[in-house]
Amino acid sequence: MFRARRGIVINTGTAPAIPPIQGLAGTPYWTNREIVQTEQVPESMIVIGGGAIGAELAQVFSRFGAEVTVVEARPRLVSFEEPEASELIERIFLREGIKVYTDAPPERIGHNDAGFSVHLGMSVLTATQLLVATGRRTDLAGLGVAAVGLDPSASVIATDGRMRAAEGVWAIGDVTGKGAFTHMSMYQADIVVRDILGQGGQAADYRAVPRVMFTDPEIGSVGLTSAQALAAGLRVRTGLAQVPYSARGWIHKAGNDGFIKVIADADRSVLVGATSAGPWGGEVLSALQVAIRAEVPLATLRNMPYAYPTFYRAIEDALRSLEGSS
Ligand SMILES: Cc1cc2nc3c(=O)[nH]c(=O)nc-3n(C[C@H](O)[C@H](O)[C@H](O)COP(=O)(O)OP(=O)(O)OC[C@H]3O[C@@H](n4cnc5c(N)ncnc54)[C@H](O)[C@@H]3O)c2cc1C
Repeated sequence: MFRARRGIVINTGTAPAIPPIQGLAGTPYWTNREIVQTEQVPESMIVIGGGAIGAELAQVFSRFGAEVTVVEARPRLVSFEEPEASELIERIFLREGIKVYTDAPPERIGHNDAGFSVHLGMSVLTATQLLVATGRRTDLAGLGVAAVGLDPSASVIATDGRMRAAEGVWAIGDVTGKGAFTHMSMYQADIVVRDILGQGGQAADYRAVPRVMFTDPEIGSVGLTSAQALAAGLRVRTGLAQVPYSARGWIHKAGNDGFIKVIADADRSVLVGATSAGPWGGEVLSALQVAIRAEVPLATLRNMPYAYPTFYRAIEDALRSLEGSS
């Protein structure tokens, strides 16, 4: 047994969530854990789940030479992102030979010596390997959080701005439900260290949290999507710039797929969200993150020169297209 003098920090992350699909349990399917340990590329692979992890691994293994099919229960891949992001990634997957089934919740899984079968209504897909990438889950009961006064039936650990969860207990990372990203865990860790050492400083602020899907091209997003902004009751304006007509991808031979979409709150004349998809989409995102986090007025963003020929120049075009949007 270990004893802590100052407190406990719960930082146990999440595990893959396995959906209750008939026939799946007991088969030798992969999760993100097994797939990164493999030393052999499967001949063919079905990926259940077209979120960020499913999409990234589908493209990686397709490029390694596997014949890959992605099966997604929702109407589009990466459904939590802007529709333009889903359209872009689906178009690229089809171009690269990755098959995509959307609106297709698997009904049953079969497994024999030849591999796996996934039953989708009238059709049956087969592959030598199956990857389950259907999200992440916490297991607070298994962790025994009741012993420190926390609710074991909760899906995440509630924390205040200093990441305090109970007397002498802090929590950071995926278990807090504030964004399952490495950078979120690191950001919160800094707050906890300051709090435990009595150093003060700023409390957690979850505005303009960035996320990047490392497909090729990268899809970076920050802040609210247009759907989230509408749901929050904002008077939303959106602006869109497609990379081939805006930034100069072809000069760098880096590809011409991508776009920048900005979401503005028309009442406050500031950006509240953005997506940057394209070569180095995650890097281009940084300027948009600062604009959203610091609530830089749209007028300021519009009245500055954007370096030529860069990808981030598309921000200027996206801002310009905000004007005519409703
Ligand atoms: C395939 C994949 C790709 C990802 N790509 C990205 C990305 O590109 N960028 C990004 O920001 N995020 C990415 N993420 C998410 C990111 O990995 C997580 O958000 C991040 O690791 C969470 O950090 P954490 O500190 O909460 O916990 P973790 O990094 O998960 O660490 C938790 C640790 O606690 C240990 N542990 C668990 N229970 C106990 C216990 N009872 N006692 C002791 N130790 C325990 C675990 O074994 C683990 O080592 C990805 C996740 C996956 C699965």
